Amino acid sequence: MAYPIYLTIGNIPKDIRRKPSHHVQILLGYIPTTKLDGMPSKAGRRRALANLFHSCMRNVLGPISSVGETGLTMMSRDGVWRRCHPIFAVFVGDYPEQALVTCTFNGRCPKCLVPPGQLGKYELFPLRTQRSVIGSYLLADQDMRQFHQTCREAQLKPIVHPFWATFPLADIFISITPDILHQMLQGVMKHLISWLVDIFGASTIDTRCKSMPPNHKVLLFPKGITILSRVTGLEHKKMCGILLGLIVDLPVPGGLDSSRVVKAARALLDFLFLAQFQCHTSDTLSQLDNHLVAFHNNKAVFVDLGIRQNFHIPKLHSLLHYASSIRLFGTTDNYNTEQSERLHIDLAKKAFRATNRKDEYAQMTTWLERREKLQRHSASIDRRQNHWQSIQTRTLIGPPCVRAQSIKMAQSPSRKAVPFADIFGKYGAPLFQDALADFVVAVKNPELGARALCDRARNALLPFRTVQVYHNIKFTARNDAQEMEIVDAVYVRPEQRDRRGRIIPARFDTVLIQGSGQSKFFTLFTLRFGPK
Ligand SMILES: [Zn+2]
Repeated sequence: MAYPIYLTIGNIPKDIRRKPSHHVQILLGYIPTTKLDGMPSKAGRRRALANLFHSCMRNVLGPISSVGETGLTMMSRDGVWRRCHPIFAVFVGDYPEQALVTCTFNGRCPKCLVPPGQLGKYELFPLRTQRSVIGSYLLADQDMRQFHQTCREAQLKPIVHPFWATFPLADIFISITPDILHQMLQGVMKHLISWLVDIFGASTIDTRCKSMPPNHKVLLFPKGITILSRVTGLEHKKMCGILLGLIVDLPVPGGLDSSRVVKAARALLDFLFLAQFQCHTSDTLSQLDNHLVAFHNNKAVFVDLGIRQNFHIPKLHSLLHYASSIRLFGTTDNYNTEQSERLHIDLAKKAFRATNRKDEYAQMTTWLERREKLQRHSASIDRRQNHWQSIQTRTLIGPPCVRAQSIKMAQSPSRKAVPFADIFGKYGAPLFQDALADFVVAVKNPELGARALCDRARNALLPFRTVQVYHNIKFTARNDAQEMEIVDAVYVRPEQRDRRGRIIPARFDTVLIQGSGQSKFFTLFTLRFGPK
């Protein structure tokens, strides 16, 4: 077991911070993982553990925080020395860690003073402020009894000198940020899926999962979603992608209006997708709030159906704070706990494996220190060879925009000569030959009107009996890092058999084509069949 604390700097662009290979998140230290089993009292043990955590954090962060106001000179990657003021801005952690850090009790909001019975409401309550609680914590140096009593009245844990008490320009309650992984995917979405399963029944939901056609970037659950036992955040994310399709137009037991269930589910899903945007405008942020309002306006349907009695769920309440946190600290991918879970592999697991399993912490820190030195040295060599310039010319992330897509196809067709009879029978395109004649006539006689084209096409003779067929088209676009990536794919493939004689079912994807007249024909042909 290890309890690592990481540190990163907000100035670093997130596309650099996201890549572990850039080493912009450093390990500050390991917090003790002891459970203090020797202490007989459960409450005393819990209090001692919380105090131990804050004391360790004070040790770790003290030297950094003391120069927040005065500043200190640091060299940046380009080799220039600058005066920097490290200020504690954001704490990223899951809910128990947020409660531990802010000294609030379990089941309470670490950001505002919402009473436990009001967590399910769409209502903002007065925010907690560091200034208002700091007086209570200063009492620890004077009268211990009064300190405990004041903390109890303020609904705060009596921690002696919380680590953030002396930080300049910081407010620990503001520093608590949304957490997509634990609050949304493994929290609210997990609840929503279980409510929908309760309403419509596990077998109905699973049957719909099984009949889902394959599609690009859609993870299929061929055995259903209700039989899975330990569902990861990624699996919940993929389930959310198909959830609305699973429940739409399903009848609700008791003859109640199913549209309210769909509206409530859709509102939460929209909120989830918007909350994960990599870039926001004031418009998208107001939409984020609108979706939350839409959920609260329709949530009563779960009570009417007897699925829930109330919505006193801290994770559901936390959604109220998303928009304000995004305004303050940027989009949620800046402070997602998924990133630190990835760091555990490098900075805890790999480090542990490098030891002989005896007195491991000392060996782990030595191993990591050596690795850091090597990384710094190679960065320094890079800098001397002026490689850093290439990093500086990277493109910045702009506002969300429609990215130009291009089509990617194989050079040679999947089938070189398919007779018209097979296009009709195996590919299910009975009107293909007529449409091809219309197309050929339209291309050869662009001056003719619709009526004349129709007449001419009726008498047209195609001087071939077979066509080339392409079974797959990929759509590519540039991502934020300006790399080409496949954003969608279309398959047209009749039933076939593999080498062992097993049947591979046919796949014909649905394609919606925008356009009219001749352009429609043209798009249709290039989509399904390569030009001869
Ligand atoms: Zn709150």
